[in-house]
Amino acid sequence: MRQSKFFMPTLKETPADAVAKSHQLMLRGGYIRQVTAGVYAYLPLAYRVLNKAQKIMEEEMAKINVPECLMPALLPASLWEESGRLKKYGPEMFRLNDRHDRPSLLGPTHEETFTQLIAKNLKSYKQMPISLYQIQTKYRDENRPRFGLLRGREFIMLDAYSFAATREQLDEQFDDEKQAFENVFKRCGVTVRPVIADSGTMGGKDSTEFQAPAAIGEDTIAVNETGTYAANLEMAQSVDDFKQAPEAAKDLEKVATPDCDSIEKLAKFLKVPATRIVKSILYIADDQKVLVLIRGDKQINEAKLAHVIDADDIHEVATSDLEAITGSAKGGVGPIKADYADRIIADNTVKNLYNVVVGAGETDYQFKNANLDRDFKVDEFADIRVANEGELDPVDHLPLQFTTSIEVGHIFKLGTYYTKTMGADFLDQNGKTQPVIMGSYGIGVSRMLSAIVEQHLTEHGIAWPKEISPFDIQLVQMKMNDDAQTALAEKLESSLSAKYDVLYDDRKERPGVKFNDADLVGAPVRITIGRKASDGIVEVKRPTDEKAQEIAVNDLDAWIAKELG
Ligand code: ATP
Ligand code: MG
Repeated sequence: MRQSKFFMPTLKETPADAVAKSHQLMLRGGYIRQVTAGVYAYLPLAYRVLNKAQKIMEEEMAKINVPECLMPALLPASLWEESGRLKKYGPEMFRLNDRHDRPSLLGPTHEETFTQLIAKNLKSYKQMPISLYQIQTKYRDENRPRFGLLRGREFIMLDAYSFAATREQLDEQFDDEKQAFENVFKRCGVTVRPVIADSGTMGGKDSTEFQAPAAIGEDTIAVNETGTYAANLEMAQSVDDFKQAPEAAKDLEKVATPDCDSIEKLAKFLKVPATRIVKSILYIADDQKVLVLIRGDKQINEAKLAHVIDADDIHEVATSDLEAITGSAKGGVGPIKADYADRIIADNTVKNLYNVVVGAGETDYQFKNANLDRDFKVDEFADIRVANEGELDPVDHLPLQFTTSIEVGHIFKLGTYYTKTMGADFLDQNGKTQPVIMGSYGIGVSRMLSAIVEQHLTEHGIAWPKEISPFDIQLVQMKMNDDAQTALAEKLESSLSAKYDVLYDDRKERPGVKFNDADLVGAPVRITIGRKASDGIVEVKRPTDEKAQEIAVNDLDAWIAKELG
């Protein structure tokens, strides 16, 4: 490919509104252009990377015998009503009406579409296990689209769905997909860590995310040093090594605690450690009032709480509304006489505490010496606590380290949630009707491109991993009006193109401009044809090399073969 004909609108300056390094480089290198918020055009450079990534995915899915198909993005809302997710999905869904006023939507994911296909076309255990996948454009009206391809409103996803007659079949399908995904990430050069994850609105258990550690990542993962425990912070657990020595229950005592609207202030005022205080926080979960208790030194993890409560929407009651509901402003809410609460849920840290401080249900008053069961009741105990860095992991009891990272993939065992609600049944060996058992597997293909760039930054550009680099080799001719250089460059272009993707910079530009652009193309091999062309000598450079090295043209093939494999 001749660079003079290749559309690659590079920018000299870093675009002011791009925060993520990958976003900056992909704009500067002419990989992508924004069309509207969170919606991008993939220009030729990005499209080449995308195609290579997709080819790798196709190969890895073929290895596990999963065929590709393509579903529509335009879907009837009725399909999502069947699964019960139309309301649940919320404002992230692009909804529209067609000319006949039929409610429609643009698919943010495709569990329903595939489940319906299976419901209508699969009848017997003999047709299972079976899986399908597609690489398709998804639509999510994200609250904060940002960082270029990392969080788009239109983005490309590989989504696979598995259908099984037995749990064992599902386990096998899950393991296959996991392996295929790991191969994809490895070949695309993105370092990932599988971590325990939340399954969100999808239902199901056994949820694993593939997280690519990167400074810009919006997720935090908690990992121990040996890697035997790794979890998204949303789900991370840790050992709570605090133990209070048992005490005899003392008399409940009401005390005024003016201006104590935080645990720190309260602990200081009462001269007690935070571990002797039980915090009470009121949540609205759908239409229920849920009072949530946790020991004073810990924080509530709302993702874990949402699982325990199993509601579509949970949110903490605003300070301004507290008094009207509980009769007490912030700093007085507590579990004693909390008749307004439909449910009281406590974190496990509230167990085995003696003579603690709790809100008295009256503004600026607390009870001292409160004891569980004698003075207040809890409907349910659960782990709803935020794990802190440095705490010990629950498996090997090693300190947890936190890392920011990018979620590039997510796989989970959905079970029968969709198949039951949408009537995807089959006849088992005994002629009995059973719901199909399902799994779902996704890679954020466009997001992955940005993640790869984030993990392969050089001082001035990108060092693309070999298998997905837009070009394998970039030829840079220093002087376009030098006949010896042109002859050699054209000769190399034609011989190397037989085996490799070659971009030949034949533009009448200054060498400085060409080198800057080459840094943005980020090909694993750069060959510069300059002054010594007539002596049969060129320069080679890898993106991470500080300096180019001279090499005889005769040795070039061997050097390239070694580099590109
Ligand atoms: P996130 O927590 O980042 O919003 P998610 O949990 O909503 O992601 P899934 O529904 O599991 O994502 O979608 C599968 C994959 O699609 C994700 O692992 C991610 O790589 C990708 N993805 C999700 N949302 C976006 C987006 N807005 N832009 C680009 N890729 C996305
Ligand atoms: Mg999301």
